[in-house]
Amino acid sequence: MKPTLIIGGGIIGLFTAYYLQKEGVEVTVIDRTDLRDNCSTGNAGMIVPSHIIPLAAPGMISKGISWMFSSKSPFYIHPRLDFKLVQWCLLFFKAANPSQVSKAIPYLKNISLLSKALYQEFRQEHPDSSMALVEKGLMMAYQTESMEKEEVEFAHLARKYGLEAEILGHEDLKKVEPNLHLKARGAVLFPGDAHLDPGALYGFLKKYLEQKEVSFLTETQVLGFEKEGTKVVAVLTDKGKLEAEKILLCGGSWSGELAQMLHFTLPMMGGKGYSFLQANQPEIQQATILTEQKVAVSPYGASVRFGGTMEIAGTNESINKNRVKGIFEAINRYYPDFQATFPEDKQIWKGLRPCSPDGLPYIGFAPRYTNVLVGSGHSMIGISLAPATGKILSELHQQKDSSMEIQGFAVARYA
Ligand SMILES: Cc1cc2nc3c(=O)[nH]c(=O)nc-3n(C[C@H](O)[C@H](O)[C@H](O)COP(=O)(O)OP(=O)(O)OC[C@H]3O[C@@H](n4cnc5c(N)ncnc54)[C@H](O)[C@@H]3O)c2cc1C
Repeated sequence: MKPTLIIGGGIIGLFTAYYLQKEGVEVTVIDRTDLRDNCSTGNAGMIVPSHIIPLAAPGMISKGISWMFSSKSPFYIHPRLDFKLVQWCLLFFKAANPSQVSKAIPYLKNISLLSKALYQEFRQEHPDSSMALVEKGLMMAYQTESMEKEEVEFAHLARKYGLEAEILGHEDLKKVEPNLHLKARGAVLFPGDAHLDPGALYGFLKKYLEQKEVSFLTETQVLGFEKEGTKVVAVLTDKGKLEAEKILLCGGSWSGELAQMLHFTLPMMGGKGYSFLQANQPEIQQATILTEQKVAVSPYGASVRFGGTMEIAGTNESINKNRVKGIFEAINRYYPDFQATFPEDKQIWKGLRPCSPDGLPYIGFAPRYTNVLVGSGHSMIGISLAPATGKILSELHQQKDSSMEIQGFAVARYA
């Protein structure tokens, strides 16, 4: 029997391998890197059932336009003459309307809740995982009246969809952060959210899969495919040809290129973001998003990670220090007592979020192929959704009913 090949060893590829090996499937993961660092290792690690609004939402267009003119802003599209970028932006604008957003909400909510339940199950099965899942919720802190209005409106919407949301006034913040001053008018707390250490989760999962005899072909780049009718029979790499029973495309921001090799369209842009760790002094205790600056704060006891910015960057991986400064300056703007130090170059982590234009992931069979599945385009919530995506893909692979309805994630929606 030939193996199932997973192209891409990010968190989506690894959780897919995890559920497939549980089914007794022989799996090989191929990645062009050595798997020490990808978008899945240094992100903010938030598990966010509260994120039911996709990136492509009506408010983003006006905000995006105003942010375009600042090099430190949270969202940025570098204007350039690139056909794929223009096409992606047009699709993004088309998706950013109330009717598309209300169609997306139930899908995002259901997959997030499924994924969170799978994380809880994973923690029970692997108490040694060291992923440090903290179930203390996520707080959206705001300083301005306009952001307060937006967040409180969103809290009411979330409640309408059955999610818990607590509105906290300025005085309540002192109880949440007893060690330092959080300079904010108030916040919305989503108690159902959580956060974890993505690097620890990733390292554990990779080691566990190796022990379970999942093969890893690292520093091996996929360059093409060999097809017979509606099937892919082999993957062509820079190290030679690999025969395969079934293929899963989990190539993150590069998935559009893999799709192109198979002659279907999968619009995708890398949304570049940065993060860095700091000694947690005085200790921040609550996972928070500093909403005006869109900076994520993930505390891990003695250390805390600050992350943010979204620069629609294709697959350009260079570091833009101005955007890192934007994140850094937000720290003392919200936590004036925090002892922040600007990170050295080697302490700055960057990652490319795989962004589909409508903010929904692609999960399911590739158009026109009977043995090719896709799991990609998870944008800002890939860690959050990885277990559910992996589980659904393994169910489709095994020709079982999927744990939830996945029409909204159709891979063929732009093909
Ligand atoms: C600053 C920042 C903060 C974030 N915070 C959060 C958060 O709090 N919560 C959350 O849920 N998400 C968060 N995210 C998003 C999350 O990190 C991503 O959605 C997720 O990591 C994407 O995983 P992936 O497996 O799809 O892609 P990746 O991790 O990028 O993996 C794709 C892999 O495919 C390989 N590949 C591609 N093409 C080929 C090829 N041709 N041949 C071989 N290999 C190939 C690549 O080398 C790569 O290793 C954040 C992202 C950033 C940047």
